[in-house]
Amino acid sequence: MPELPEVETIKRDLEKEVVGRRITAVEGDWPKTVSEPEFAIFQKEVTGRKIKALKRRAKNLIISLDKEYLLVHFKMTGHMLVADAGELHKDHWAVKEASSPLADRVNQFIHLAFYLDNGKVMALSDLRKFARVSLVSKERLDTLLAHLGPEPLEDDFDLELFKKQLSGKKGYIKQILLQQEVVAGIGNIYADEILFDAKILPLRKVTDLSNIELKKIYKSIVKILSKAVDLRGTSTSDFRDAAGEKGKYTDIRKVYRRTGEPCLAGCGGVVQRVKISGRSAHYCPNCQK
Ligand SMILES: [Zn+2]
Repeated sequence: MPELPEVETIKRDLEKEVVGRRITAVEGDWPKTVSEPEFAIFQKEVTGRKIKALKRRAKNLIISLDKEYLLVHFKMTGHMLVADAGELHKDHWAVKEASSPLADRVNQFIHLAFYLDNGKVMALSDLRKFARVSLVSKERLDTLLAHLGPEPLEDDFDLELFKKQLSGKKGYIKQILLQQEVVAGIGNIYADEILFDAKILPLRKVTDLSNIELKKIYKSIVKILSKAVDLRGTSTSDFRDAAGEKGKYTDIRKVYRRTGEPCLAGCGGVVQRVKISGRSAHYCPNCQK
């Protein structure tokens, strides 16, 4: 699932391509992609609207139109691509070169396409079809996003705020880091990478963590997410940027989806995987305590 760094990458890519453009047509082959209003109304309402700005909040992409907003949640396998409209044929890209990033299989599942007034198209590719797009008012947008915790890369996210967000929380630190009301935007990839960086085991109880350990986790959250934004996200699975290219954090990740491989800290240990309430956690039993 695209997490903060992946959605931020898409947002920054799209910003250069679509801000100021008018949407001339909307097409889709999977009406459920639009959660509100119903697809035909969505299509009619969005056509002719101008894209004013883009924002990211947690794992959501927010596209400001005049007065209203497109709220996009990519869920498992969704990502937004921009290319020449002429290349898009209904639900796939007609790419001539196999070396083109658009030819990559995960970019070929187009279920919603916004045609723009500059001959380009902004298209949602989503193999699993769980991504959702809504057209909402400001008030509705605020309601839908109200539960989200602080943005970890904003200036107001300091150690005190992090501790405050954890207060009263029970459970394993890995689980708690995934809760969007605690810190916004962290998912399975970066929770594992953050805990490796902080040298804390994913199965540690939040209530048992010392102040020094909490500080380490806080610092690792900021460090790892910033690094992942710089490297344009992780593509161990379906994530691609707006040009269809893979993120480079994949190459420097330490534990996520490296089960059975040697620990990159050189401790001699092997990366392990454990299930914590249905989600995998990857960790080094030597480095993490
Ligand atoms: Zn290790």
